[in-house]
Amino acid sequence: MDKSKILPLKDKKVIVFDLDGTIVRLAADWYSLKKVLNDRYSEHFQDDCQFTSISACLSEIVEKGDEAELQHNFDVIKQYELDNIEKNEPIEETIYFINNTKLFGVKRATKLAILSLNTRQTIEKSLELAGISDKFDSILGREDVRSWKPEPEGLLKIMEHYKVNKEEMIYFGDLEKDIMTGANAGIETHYIDALINLVKSYKKI
Ligand SMILES: [Mg+2]
Repeated sequence: MDKSKILPLKDKKVIVFDLDGTIVRLAADWYSLKKVLNDRYSEHFQDDCQFTSISACLSEIVEKGDEAELQHNFDVIKQYELDNIEKNEPIEETIYFINNTKLFGVKRATKLAILSLNTRQTIEKSLELAGISDKFDSILGREDVRSWKPEPEGLLKIMEHYKVNKEEMIYFGDLEKDIMTGANAGIETHYIDALINLVKSYKKI
């Protein structure tokens, strides 16, 4: 079986992964975090951020131009994410792929990168716990963009960083938001299930 026909991995110079639900499952208390951020917003701005998502609330802070408050929010998010970091669950097949890219037709020169809504330290610590820190060439976390997925900023930043074109990149994530990010950036994006199934079928042979 020519696996490269299922996913065009051998043509890619940069493979980008989401983190949570894609490489590991984080165990943060998202419910409490959202409540804390929502309360903080109401108190700080004397206004309601109509909390639909963390990103939506942060976008409002960006719109207000309050960088100090944004940094404070990043710190709170980081603290909640790191609180339960030891309870991370690794997603075995993804980690197998990352450790054995050559088996799947990925060229030696191909770079692996992360684009995640989690804070940078959470990403670094998660990769460290999974024993795959050295496999990644670059990390873009929550603090590194000002318009979050499904906005394309993160993917476009990675593309500029490597000076590659859209066709030379591929993105894997677990949510529709990730698929939309790829669509908005014009970069091929797949659910991580596609890669998990590829690894499962490889292991069966
Ligand atoms: Mg995810």
